Amino acid sequence: MTAPLATRTPRFKRILLKLSGEALMGDGKYGIAPKILQQIATEIREVVELGVEMGIVIGGGNIFRGVSGAASGMERAQADYIGMLATVMNALAVEFYIEKRGRAARALSAVPMPSLCQPYSRQAALHHLGKGRIVILAGGTGNPFFTTDTGAALRGAELSCDAIMKATQVDGIYTADPKKDPTATRYEKLTHDEAIAKNLAVMDTAAFALARENRIPIIVFSIAEPGAIRAALEGRGKATYVVP
Ligand code: UDP
Repeated sequence: MTAPLATRTPRFKRILLKLSGEALMGDGKYGIAPKILQQIATEIREVVELGVEMGIVIGGGNIFRGVSGAASGMERAQADYIGMLATVMNALAVEFYIEKRGRAARALSAVPMPSLCQPYSRQAALHHLGKGRIVILAGGTGNPFFTTDTGAALRGAELSCDAIMKATQVDGIYTADPKKDPTATRYEKLTHDEAIAKNLAVMDTAAFALARENRIPIIVFSIAEPGAIRAALEGRGKATYVVP
């Protein structure tokens, strides 16, 4: 018989969930799918009700990516500023849907925008986490030339998270792109060193290196599977575990 939720011991006390912009699009090609956000918010609530504290770093690729802007002739730094603004839009949407599901959430932005949300500070984030609120971290690192994956590794380390959970569209890290190569196989476990040496595209090297330095495990899993966040957290379901 399954034990009631409250009596289960979660594997991690505090996690950093990285949600890419793509994860918010659903079947669409752009923007935010409210249905998907409702589903993700429900799953997030389920996980925090196990007693897990959660920070969420939000991407912006569903709206704007700096590299694409740069490719079409814009200066990279300027394009990245637009990308960072995209992450704030997503963060405000995720904040709304989590609160709608009955859990307190606070968006904090690395790019201060006080009329929209609180500016990010470690103290503010820890304060909210301590109160059981879900903290949504917008603006990535607050600097151009970085990604929100690096933002996730940075905030994961800064906020003493026990694991970084990287939600993607694929159920782990594969030897090759499984959409292009049918012989690709999924790694169950890898070290940070191996992930860097193999140049695996799932996260950028800066993010892997930062996680390695701070000995933070990374769990790569697919958000498309229902109940995926909790399953990955509990070591069930398909995922790749990147460990020191
Ligand atoms: N970005 C940035 N600095 C950061 C994080 C993000 O300049 O620290 C910009 C960058 O242009 C990036 C965009 O924000 O392309 C969206 O972030 P990302 O591509 O990481 O989003 P995801 O792929 O997770 O949706």
